[in-house]
Amino acid sequence: MFDKLKKEATRVINPKQYSDYAEGGQVAAAIETSDGNIYTGICIDTACSMGFCAEHAAAADMLKHGETHVVRLVAVDTKGEFLAPCGRCREFLSQLDERNVEMEIALGENNIYTLKDLLPFDWKK
Ligand SMILES: [Zn+2]
Repeated sequence: MFDKLKKEATRVINPKQYSDYAEGGQVAAAIETSDGNIYTGICIDTACSMGFCAEHAAAADMLKHGETHVVRLVAVDTKGEFLAPCGRCREFLSQLDERNVEMEIALGENNIYTLKDLLPFDWKK
């Protein structure tokens, strides 16, 4: 299950310098929804911290297609290493659909956590 997600995330990794102030594509994320669709995104880093994470971009792709319920998430870097979503993305994904706290997130080949594990003491409860 995570193999396909990791493959899709790896497929869209494409590090580029866009300008003197912006670069992106060093990290990619793939999310799988309860409808079985996969959406991907890449990170964008800019000066003055105006960029956003690959998870954020993948969620925007999902929302564009009218879905909100994520069941699995993977983020990888250019070396194929798994990355944990940052605190902002954990919170962001949890607010898009209350069921998203149950999503599985791969932090390694056999290292799976739920969003709830990574977001303890949720203020929304
Ligand atoms: Zn993030």
